[in-house]
Amino acid sequence: MSTPSFMRTLTSFFVLLSVIFSALTAVPVEELNKTQVKNVIFMIGDGMGENHLEKTKQATGKELVMETLPLRGQSETASASSAVTDSAAGGTALACGVRTINGCIGVYNTDFTGAFSHPQNLCEAAMGIGKKVGVVTTDSTSGATPASFSAHTSSRSNEKDISEQQLCAGYDLIWGAPSDSVTAEGAQANGLTFVSSLSEMNALSAGSKSFGQFSGDLYKAENPTDDQPVLSEMTAKAIELLDNEDEGFFLMVEGAHIDKRSHSNDAEGMQEALLEFDKAIATALEFAEQDGETLIIITADHETGGIKKNSDGIYDFTQGSHSGANVPLIIYGSSDFIKDAQAIQNKQVAIYAARSMGLTPEQFPKKIAA
Ligand SMILES: [Zn+2]
Repeated sequence: MSTPSFMRTLTSFFVLLSVIFSALTAVPVEELNKTQVKNVIFMIGDGMGENHLEKTKQATGKELVMETLPLRGQSETASASSAVTDSAAGGTALACGVRTINGCIGVYNTDFTGAFSHPQNLCEAAMGIGKKVGVVTTDSTSGATPASFSAHTSSRSNEKDISEQQLCAGYDLIWGAPSDSVTAEGAQANGLTFVSSLSEMNALSAGSKSFGQFSGDLYKAENPTDDQPVLSEMTAKAIELLDNEDEGFFLMVEGAHIDKRSHSNDAEGMQEALLEFDKAIATALEFAEQDGETLIIITADHETGGIKKNSDGIYDFTQGSHSGANVPLIIYGSSDFIKDAQAIQNKQVAIYAARSMGLTPEQFPKKIAA
């Protein structure tokens, strides 16, 4: 081979390399052109697989509001450590746009103690562009899913660490069932209004920052405990408090008991939890339809209970643990979040949510140095 011809070959080789490299690193165009919205309501039915919807409809004869929404695809739920995720890694993917090791909360799989850095979550990113932010759950406030949207720690069982981070997160509201180390004094010391009843919650006014510790069954249609809220009431009040003329808001709402009741194969309990979660969705939808600038994302972190249709045509549990099945991903308020019937990875749901709020690839996913 002559020298010029060798040089041409070498040049073409480098051109080819750079084309391959830019193809590998380029951000897909569709990721950058999401419908822009002011508000995002991110609703997570913990453990809610496709067949949880089928089983609930079959058993109760009721239709689901979430199934009336325009776009429906699926989320692929694997974590960095397993094809079957837990709620910590599942929540981290949905909150931070990165897959981590099962059990870890808001940290990288390569740095799971967070010694060097951690990924920012959607609440933090939304706050960074001036939005109000809230976290609402039927689980204890330090549960794996709410923790993924408000803390960074190596283990979901680090309750004290999670609660301490939540109390000084600066969020507008974090509400759920009680967590061991959260006290009224601790909340007040961090400038938060502590609320522990339905009437105290309803008395909150816009501009307040609050920490809610509610008791009884938050996931039922009616909380059997006196003066305590249920998920749809918490969702309605949270939206009322967060809705503002300025930069909008990001709210995460979790129906945690779809998972909890599925672990024990308690069909009635699961259905009750799913219907109340659906009622919370109806509440969010009513707001979004009037507002016109709100994106609603409905999905799950994973499926629990391996629900399948048996030979009698009945949907029933086949196990007491999580499965690796894809879960529903239902969208209102964006025509291009996903294509209809498209399946995307759990971490991509967070990234698309961020793009819909106008966060650029430089702003999310984002590594925060320790
Ligand atoms: Zn679970």
